[in-house]
Amino acid sequence: MEKAYFIQELKKRLIEISNLSSVLALLSWDQNVNMPKKAVTSRAFAIAEINSLIHSRFLAIDKDNLLSDLKKEVDEKKIKGGDSVIISETWKSFTRAKKLPESFVRELAETTSRAHAVWVEAREKNDFNLFLPVLSKIVELKKKEATYAGYTDSPYDALLDAFEPDMISRQVENILRELKNFLIPFLKKIKNAKKKPDPALIKGFFPIEKQASFNEMVVKKIGFDLEAGRIDKTVHPFATTLHPLDVRITTRYAEDDVLYSLGSIIHEAGHGLYEQSLPVEYFGTPLGESISLGIHESQSRMWENLIGKSKNFWKYFYPKLQETFPIPFKKISLENFYQTINAVFPSPIRTEADEVTYNLHIILRFEIEKDLIEGKIETKDLPRIWKSKMKEYLGIENKDSASGVLQDVHWSEGLFGYFPTYTLGNLYASQFYATMKKEIPDINKKISSGDFQEIKEWLKKNIHIHGKFYTASSLTKKVTGEDLNSKYFIDYLKEKYTNLFGLEPR
Ligand code: ZN
Repeated sequence: MEKAYFIQELKKRLIEISNLSSVLALLSWDQNVNMPKKAVTSRAFAIAEINSLIHSRFLAIDKDNLLSDLKKEVDEKKIKGGDSVIISETWKSFTRAKKLPESFVRELAETTSRAHAVWVEAREKNDFNLFLPVLSKIVELKKKEATYAGYTDSPYDALLDAFEPDMISRQVENILRELKNFLIPFLKKIKNAKKKPDPALIKGFFPIEKQASFNEMVVKKIGFDLEAGRIDKTVHPFATTLHPLDVRITTRYAEDDVLYSLGSIIHEAGHGLYEQSLPVEYFGTPLGESISLGIHESQSRMWENLIGKSKNFWKYFYPKLQETFPIPFKKISLENFYQTINAVFPSPIRTEADEVTYNLHIILRFEIEKDLIEGKIETKDLPRIWKSKMKEYLGIENKDSASGVLQDVHWSEGLFGYFPTYTLGNLYASQFYATMKKEIPDINKKISSGDFQEIKEWLKKNIHIHGKFYTASSLTKKVTGEDLNSKYFIDYLKEKYTNLFGLEPR
């Protein structure tokens, strides 16, 4: 009786914090979607206020030893199952938060908020030296954070743990090395292929309202519930969740390129489907939360790439696209369209990269940030290292900092250990998808007839509904029978692009 009461009390505290987090999410969503320009400063104060309220509420969660007493019972196996996961996961975040002194947290927040403005200016002026001092400061702070948080092998592990719990850098390094060894020669083969799709083929004039209603039709069809979510326009697309019954996804538009917006909205809808399928009854607790950034990204990339850039997907949607935009699509065959949307062109910019080159951008960033945190390289050498890796991996001469080392916002925000989750997402996605294909034998027929119900249900049943009940590695093993590896993604690329570009099979 007593024990049940204490667990109830813990859940109550967690739900209070989550309700505050919903307010925070709404403020940030509004900031990116609706907010008038002059509200920048007042909104920043409002956000900082709620943020610190959440932080102090969370640190007070164990004020009467409620959490530590429950954790003891879990350790003694007196509490098991879902409740033990709620307690252990909360304990984990609580102890990590406690390890960081308040003065440190404040210094990091101040430094990164200043760094953001400096980064924007440095990128505009194409001047890395402008960004260098504050970047060096952030790297020092992140090294400090790793020391506070603790690690056994590499300080990078402590940072990675915040985004991809239970994964250590040596594992990531091994998986990514395998992938790199495949990708570099594979990309050379594609460059030498005879077939060369022309991206200009599918350019045209596509009024934004028409694009928006096409997007909405696609997103609804794959199962995103618009009565429990919204689609809006923004500059940098994102998905955010106030509650599983209130999930906001966003996209941006280019009038000459219909795929620019559609690709990003399918991606965000993949994130949104995960959030909408989390169990409502566990809202606020770890059982109502996604597992990790890598697993989250696997959902968006599965819909965006494995499904959304497949021939079967477009067998269903292409006639609808042709009807909506007869110019230019009426004159382009499905086959040509399919080849063009899957064109492979190394670009210096990560966010413009295709499925083949994308992960080389990530591997480059992962190697650099790991070496920085481990003290093997210095921030002042970044432009030179960036250039040489760009040349080696993608065959690109990187001309300036703006399209090189300064292109991403992440490091200015102190996000070290975040980049690899993008590639891990691709790997999880293809490994899950390979299992799904076996378990839904007529999956291609279903996709080409616009029937996504079973896919959505499969993802919900196998991944979404569990919240954090399983770790990323135990879930992967449970669903696919194997640990995460690069084989499924490599096989997927080989099969798809060998057919697409008539490469010599090896
Ligand atoms: Zn994403």
